[in-house]
Amino acid sequence: MESIDILTIAAHPDDIELTCSGTLMKMLDRGYSLGILDLTQGEMGTRGTQEIRAQEAEAARAVIGARFRERLNLGDSRLTASIENRFALAEKIRLARPKTVILPYWEGRHPDHYTAATLGYEACYAAGLKRLPIAGGEPHRPKKILYASMYWEVRPSFLIDISPYFARKIQAINCFASQFAGDLRDVTELYPAWGKLIDRITTQCKYFGHLIGVNYAEPFVVKELMAVDDIVTLAVPSI
Ligand SMILES: [Zn+2]
Repeated sequence: MESIDILTIAAHPDDIELTCSGTLMKMLDRGYSLGILDLTQGEMGTRGTQEIRAQEAEAARAVIGARFRERLNLGDSRLTASIENRFALAEKIRLARPKTVILPYWEGRHPDHYTAATLGYEACYAAGLKRLPIAGGEPHRPKKILYASMYWEVRPSFLIDISPYFARKIQAINCFASQFAGDLRDVTELYPAWGKLIDRITTQCKYFGHLIGVNYAEPFVVKELMAVDDIVTLAVPSI
Protein backbone atom coordinates (compact mmCIF):
# COMPACT_ATOMS: atom_id res chain seq x y z
CA MET A 1 0.00 0.00 0.00
CA GLU A 2 1.43 3.38 -0.95
CA SER A 3 1.21 6.53 1.19
CA ILE A 4 -1.47 9.01 0.20
CA ASP A 5 -2.78 12.40 1.36
CA ILE A 6 -6.43 11.44 1.87
CA LEU A 7 -7.86 8.10 3.02
CA THR A 8 -11.58 7.40 2.97
CA ILE A 9 -12.90 4.65 5.23
CA ALA A 10 -16.49 3.50 4.82
CA ALA A 11 -18.61 0.44 5.57
CA HIS A 12 -19.75 -0.62 2.10
CA PRO A 13 -18.61 -0.25 -1.49
CA ASP A 14 -20.79 2.67 -2.80
CA ASP A 15 -20.90 4.63 0.49
CA ILE A 16 -18.17 7.06 -0.45
CA GLU A 17 -19.59 7.47 -3.95
CA LEU A 18 -22.88 8.60 -2.43
CA THR A 19 -21.51 10.75 0.39
CA CYS A 20 -18.27 12.43 -0.69
CA SER A 21 -16.98 11.43 -4.15
CA GLY A 22 -17.39 14.96 -5.58
CA THR A 23 -15.09 16.31 -2.88
CA LEU A 24 -12.58 13.54 -3.56
CA MET A 25 -12.49 14.36 -7.28
CA LYS A 26 -12.00 18.03 -6.46
CA MET A 27 -9.08 17.30 -4.14
CA LEU A 28 -7.45 15.03 -6.75
CA ASP A 29 -7.58 17.97 -9.19
CA ARG A 30 -5.72 19.98 -6.54
CA GLY A 31 -2.91 17.43 -6.72
CA TYR A 32 -3.65 15.38 -3.61
CA SER A 33 -3.55 11.60 -3.69
CA LEU A 34 -6.37 9.37 -2.48
CA GLY A 35 -6.89 5.84 -1.18
CA ILE A 36 -10.20 4.09 -0.51
CA LEU A 37 -10.82 1.47 2.19
CA ASP A 38 -14.15 -0.37 2.17
CA LEU A 39 -14.49 -2.20 5.48
CA THR A 40 -16.86 -4.85 4.12
CA GLN A 41 -17.51 -6.38 0.74
CA GLY A 42 -21.21 -5.58 0.70
CA GLU A 43 -21.99 -9.28 0.68
CA MET A 44 -25.39 -8.85 2.37
CA GLY A 45 -26.77 -7.04 -0.67
CA THR A 46 -29.38 -9.21 -2.33
CA ARG A 47 -28.06 -8.76 -5.87
CA GLY A 48 -24.77 -9.18 -7.67
CA THR A 49 -22.05 -11.78 -7.16
CA GLN A 50 -18.79 -11.11 -5.32
CA GLU A 51 -17.00 -10.82 -8.68
CA ILE A 52 -19.49 -8.30 -10.05
CA ARG A 53 -19.26 -6.25 -6.85
CA ALA A 54 -15.46 -6.21 -7.08
CA GLN A 55 -15.63 -5.09 -10.71
CA GLU A 56 -18.10 -2.35 -9.83
CA ALA A 57 -15.96 -1.05 -6.96
CA GLU A 58 -12.92 -0.99 -9.23
CA ALA A 59 -14.83 0.83 -11.99
CA ALA A 60 -15.95 3.48 -9.48
CA ARG A 61 -12.37 3.81 -8.19
CA ALA A 62 -11.23 4.54 -11.74
CA VAL A 63 -13.97 7.17 -12.25
CA ILE A 64 -12.94 8.90 -9.01
CA GLY A 65 -9.22 8.52 -9.71
CA ALA A 66 -8.07 6.96 -6.40
CA ARG A 67 -4.59 5.39 -6.27
CA PHE A 68 -5.96 2.28 -4.62
CA ARG A 69 -9.15 0.75 -3.32
CA GLU A 70 -8.89 -2.01 -0.80
CA ARG A 71 -11.91 -4.02 0.28
CA LEU A 72 -11.52 -5.52 3.73
CA ASN A 73 -13.75 -8.35 4.85
CA LEU A 74 -14.88 -7.30 8.32
CA GLY A 75 -18.46 -8.50 7.85
CA ASP A 76 -21.31 -6.70 6.06
CA SER A 77 -24.19 -5.97 8.48
CA ARG A 78 -22.18 -7.38 11.39
CA LEU A 79 -19.35 -4.86 11.54
CA THR A 80 -18.10 -4.36 15.10
CA ALA A 81 -15.63 -1.92 16.62
CA SER A 82 -13.66 -4.82 18.12
CA ILE A 83 -10.04 -4.60 19.21
CA GLU A 84 -9.09 -7.02 16.39
CA ASN A 85 -10.79 -4.82 13.77
CA ARG A 86 -9.25 -1.70 15.31
CA PHE A 87 -5.77 -3.13 15.02
CA ALA A 88 -6.36 -4.45 11.49
CA LEU A 89 -7.50 -1.00 10.38
CA ALA A 90 -4.71 0.76 12.31
CA GLU A 91 -2.19 -1.26 10.33
CA LYS A 92 -3.73 -0.05 7.05
CA ILE A 93 -3.61 3.54 8.32
CA ARG A 94 0.07 3.13 9.24
CA LEU A 95 0.85 1.83 5.77
CA ALA A 96 -1.17 4.50 3.91
CA ARG A 97 -0.02 7.37 6.20
CA PRO A 98 -2.89 9.74 5.31
CA LYS A 99 -2.89 13.39 6.40
CA THR A 100 -6.71 13.51 6.28
CA VAL A 101 -9.17 10.68 6.91
CA ILE A 102 -12.83 10.79 5.88
CA LEU A 103 -15.23 8.63 7.94
CA PRO A 104 -19.01 8.19 7.87
CA TYR A 105 -20.98 10.40 10.25
CA TRP A 106 -21.41 8.77 13.67
CA GLU A 107 -25.19 8.42 13.61
CA GLY A 108 -27.11 6.49 10.98
CA ARG A 109 -29.85 4.06 10.06
CA HIS A 110 -27.48 1.25 9.13
CA PRO A 111 -25.46 0.01 12.13
CA ASP A 112 -22.39 -0.55 9.90
CA HIS A 113 -22.27 3.18 9.13
CA TYR A 114 -22.10 4.46 12.70
CA THR A 115 -19.91 1.51 13.69
CA ALA A 116 -17.49 2.44 10.89
CA ALA A 117 -17.29 5.97 12.35
CA THR A 118 -16.35 4.63 15.80
CA LEU A 119 -14.02 1.95 14.48
CA GLY A 120 -12.34 4.43 12.10
CA TYR A 121 -11.75 6.99 14.84
CA GLU A 122 -10.36 4.42 17.26
CA ALA A 123 -8.09 2.98 14.56
CA CYS A 124 -6.75 6.47 13.71
CA TYR A 125 -5.90 6.94 17.36
CA ALA A 126 -4.38 3.48 17.77
CA ALA A 127 -2.25 3.89 14.62
CA GLY A 128 -0.21 6.54 16.45
CA LEU A 129 0.64 4.36 19.43
CA LYS A 130 4.30 3.34 19.39
CA ARG A 131 3.77 0.07 21.23
CA LEU A 132 0.77 -1.18 19.30
CA PRO A 133 1.18 -4.94 18.79
CA ILE A 134 0.91 -4.94 14.99
CA ALA A 135 3.53 -5.72 12.38
CA GLY A 136 3.05 -3.36 9.44
CA GLY A 137 4.20 0.26 9.15
CA GLU A 138 5.53 2.91 11.49
CA PRO A 139 3.36 4.79 14.04
CA HIS A 140 1.26 7.42 12.27
CA ARG A 141 -1.75 9.49 13.29
CA PRO A 142 -3.73 11.44 10.67
CA LYS A 143 -3.90 15.17 11.36
CA LYS A 144 -7.55 15.62 10.42
CA ILE A 145 -10.70 13.52 10.57
CA LEU A 146 -13.79 14.60 8.61
CA TYR A 147 -17.18 12.95 8.88
CA ALA A 148 -19.17 12.75 5.63
CA SER A 149 -22.73 13.51 6.78
CA MET A 150 -24.85 13.12 3.62
CA TYR A 151 -26.72 10.11 5.06
CA TRP A 152 -27.92 11.87 8.21
CA GLU A 153 -29.93 14.96 9.09
CA VAL A 154 -27.40 17.09 10.96
CA ARG A 155 -26.16 20.64 10.53
CA PRO A 156 -22.84 20.36 8.65
CA SER A 157 -19.69 22.08 9.91
CA PHE A 158 -18.90 23.08 6.32
CA LEU A 159 -19.95 22.44 2.73
CA ILE A 160 -17.75 21.79 -0.29
CA ASP A 161 -18.78 23.10 -3.72
CA ILE A 162 -18.73 20.11 -6.07
CA SER A 163 -20.64 21.70 -8.98
CA PRO A 164 -18.05 20.87 -11.70
CA TYR A 165 -17.83 17.28 -10.42
CA PHE A 166 -21.48 16.43 -9.92
CA ALA A 167 -21.95 14.63 -13.26
CA ARG A 168 -18.90 12.45 -12.56
CA LYS A 169 -20.20 11.74 -9.04
CA ILE A 170 -23.39 10.31 -10.56
CA GLN A 171 -21.25 8.36 -13.03
CA ALA A 172 -19.30 6.84 -10.11
CA ILE A 173 -22.55 5.94 -8.29
CA ASN A 174 -23.92 4.32 -11.43
CA CYS A 175 -20.94 1.94 -11.50
CA PHE A 176 -22.83 -0.02 -8.82
CA ALA A 177 -25.57 -0.96 -11.27
CA SER A 178 -26.00 -4.57 -10.10
CA GLN A 179 -27.08 -3.39 -6.65
CA PHE A 180 -29.58 -0.90 -7.81
CA ALA A 181 -30.75 -1.41 -11.38
CA GLY A 182 -34.35 -2.29 -12.04
CA ASP A 183 -37.37 -1.90 -9.85
CA LEU A 184 -36.08 -2.76 -6.39
CA ARG A 185 -38.59 -2.17 -3.67
CA ASP A 186 -38.03 0.78 -1.38
CA VAL A 187 -36.23 -0.27 1.77
CA THR A 188 -38.63 1.94 3.70
CA GLU A 189 -40.53 5.08 2.82
CA LEU A 190 -37.59 7.11 4.06
CA TYR A 191 -34.93 4.98 2.34
CA PRO A 192 -35.92 4.61 -1.28
CA ALA A 193 -35.00 2.30 -4.16
CA TRP A 194 -32.22 3.17 -6.58
CA GLY A 195 -33.96 5.34 -9.15
CA LYS A 196 -35.30 7.48 -6.35
CA LEU A 197 -31.94 7.38 -4.60
CA ILE A 198 -30.22 9.17 -7.50
CA ASP A 199 -33.03 11.71 -7.30
CA ARG A 200 -32.55 11.99 -3.55
CA ILE A 201 -28.78 12.48 -3.77
CA THR A 202 -29.26 15.07 -6.51
CA THR A 203 -31.80 16.93 -4.40
CA GLN A 204 -29.54 16.83 -1.33
CA CYS A 205 -26.47 18.06 -3.22
CA LYS A 206 -28.57 20.85 -4.77
CA TYR A 207 -29.99 21.82 -1.40
CA PHE A 208 -26.56 22.05 0.21
CA GLY A 209 -25.24 23.87 -2.86
CA HIS A 210 -27.95 26.49 -2.68
CA LEU A 211 -27.10 27.19 0.96
CA ILE A 212 -23.70 28.52 -0.18
CA GLY A 213 -24.76 29.97 -3.53
CA VAL A 214 -23.50 27.19 -5.85
CA ASN A 215 -25.23 24.41 -7.79
CA TYR A 216 -24.13 21.31 -5.84
CA ALA A 217 -22.30 20.73 -2.56
CA GLU A 218 -21.41 17.90 -0.14
CA PRO A 219 -21.72 18.24 3.67
CA PHE A 220 -19.11 17.39 6.32
CA VAL A 221 -18.98 17.50 10.10
CA VAL A 222 -15.88 17.94 12.24
CA LYS A 223 -15.83 17.51 16.02
CA GLU A 224 -13.38 20.33 16.65
CA LEU A 225 -13.93 23.99 15.75
CA MET A 226 -12.87 25.44 12.40
CA ALA A 227 -10.30 28.26 12.53
CA VAL A 228 -10.60 31.36 10.33
CA ASP A 229 -7.58 33.46 9.42
CA ASP A 230 -9.05 36.33 7.38
CA ILE A 231 -12.51 37.80 8.07
CA VAL A 232 -12.50 39.95 4.93
CA THR A 233 -12.22 37.24 2.30
CA LEU A 234 -14.64 34.77 3.94
CA ALA A 235 -16.85 32.97 1.41
CA VAL A 236 -20.70 33.01 1.36
CA PRO A 237 -22.47 36.37 1.72
CA SER A 238 -24.41 37.09 4.93
CA ILE A 239 -27.04 39.38 3.33
ZN1 LIG B 1 -23.53 1.68 3.32
